[in-house]
Amino acid sequence: MYGLSESDLDIQKRAAAFADELIPFEVDAELAGGELPAEVTKAHAARAREMGLCATNMPAELGGGGCTALQQVLVQEQAGRVTNALGWVAATPPSWLPAVATADQLDRYVRPAVRGEREECYAITEEGAGSDVAAIEATARRDGDGYLLNGVKWHVTSYNTADFAFFQAKLDGGAHHGEHAMFLVDLPSPGVRVVRTPAYTHTISHHHPIVAFTDVRVPAANLIGAEGDGMAFAYEWFRFERLMVAARCLGAAGRLTGEMTAFARERQAGGRPISEYGLVGGMLADSLTELFASRALLYETARGIDAGADVKVSHAQCSMAKLYCSEMAGRVADRAVQVFGGRGYMRENVAERFYRELRVERIWEGTSEVQRAIIAGQMVKRGPAALA
Ligand SMILES: Cc1cc2nc3c(=O)[nH]c(=O)nc-3n(C[C@H](O)[C@H](O)[C@H](O)COP(=O)(O)OP(=O)(O)OC[C@H]3O[C@@H](n4cnc5c(N)ncnc54)[C@H](O)[C@@H]3O)c2cc1C
Repeated sequence: MYGLSESDLDIQKRAAAFADELIPFEVDAELAGGELPAEVTKAHAARAREMGLCATNMPAELGGGGCTALQQVLVQEQAGRVTNALGWVAATPPSWLPAVATADQLDRYVRPAVRGEREECYAITEEGAGSDVAAIEATARRDGDGYLLNGVKWHVTSYNTADFAFFQAKLDGGAHHGEHAMFLVDLPSPGVRVVRTPAYTHTISHHHPIVAFTDVRVPAANLIGAEGDGMAFAYEWFRFERLMVAARCLGAAGRLTGEMTAFARERQAGGRPISEYGLVGGMLADSLTELFASRALLYETARGIDAGADVKVSHAQCSMAKLYCSEMAGRVADRAVQVFGGRGYMRENVAERFYRELRVERIWEGTSEVQRAIIAGQMVKRGPAALA
């Protein structure tokens, strides 16, 4: 099905086997606030690497998997079958960076990230700037042979595990005053401190603290690309991440559809399996139907990227994939809870965990409303036929 090649099927099979190895750890992670013992997490990361599931998105010449977009989707789809973000150990370093990194940045950040020795986090969102990235107030001021960075960033995912941050700011002074720039900040660095670490809906080991950057000095060598390039990098990252969010949502919805079908087949009520009740059968049927449609949409989007589709077309298609797959997964999780009945409300049940965890997929990497705005904008500019 789906016209997958031998190598597509091979990497999909390895990723599925890895996800199956992680699933038994979910409840322990859930009940321990998202944390597994450090040695277990380390072993999972090593296993992901050994199975060739890390850095699938990075060029082979830098030591990465050099996989097609479709293969990256296949891997992340399997990672998405696992709750509590345990699948994140199949890490995807910033694939937009090699094309714009200096030789020094390749050595200090990209190659170590590909080897799994360094991990990044993104410090872009602020209290007053989320969907509207252009509204950020963080500043970068040239200071001798470096820059001074200032700003308070919100929801900095993985700050607690990362050892460098991408920091987006507006230039303060100079020829590009008011334009965006992106910097690499080593962690820890003097002047970087956690303001607080709020609790979120999901239970995962990656935190999302509010982080203050106060007069943080970075060398000019840590500017990525040129002054004024900052927004272009954010868009590139969003395209990739939206595709991967869609893939993980697909995996989650696939797992839930399988689990609720198995339960509905076995669970007896009124002397027969609940699957025989049309109202329950309808929830199963709607879930699989939407899953099938989502998979076709996502794989086709990835294939378009592999075939060198126009970047604006891909941008809109990645938005469609993210929008549809995240909303579909939310509906499937809601039905799964319903099919499991009271069990579906227990934290030890996969449906309960995904019901909470999937909610953020409609918010981060651009909300559903923002995706709709992107899609509508491109429809008006190019005509619907150019996009679908
Ligand atoms: C768990 C989590 C992890 C995150 N991780 C990171 C991270 O690592 N790095 C990072 O930089 N950011 C991160 N974010 C931030 C995330 O990208 C933003 O929360 C998201 O983009 C929405 O921005 P906002 O929260 O400021 O909401 P707002 O932009 O204030 O939006 C509020 C509401 O208004 C709607 N809205 C806003 N603008 C429009 C519009 N133009 N048209 C229609 N509706 C609109 C939105 O859709 C939403 O419903 C994370 C967020 C969460 C929850």
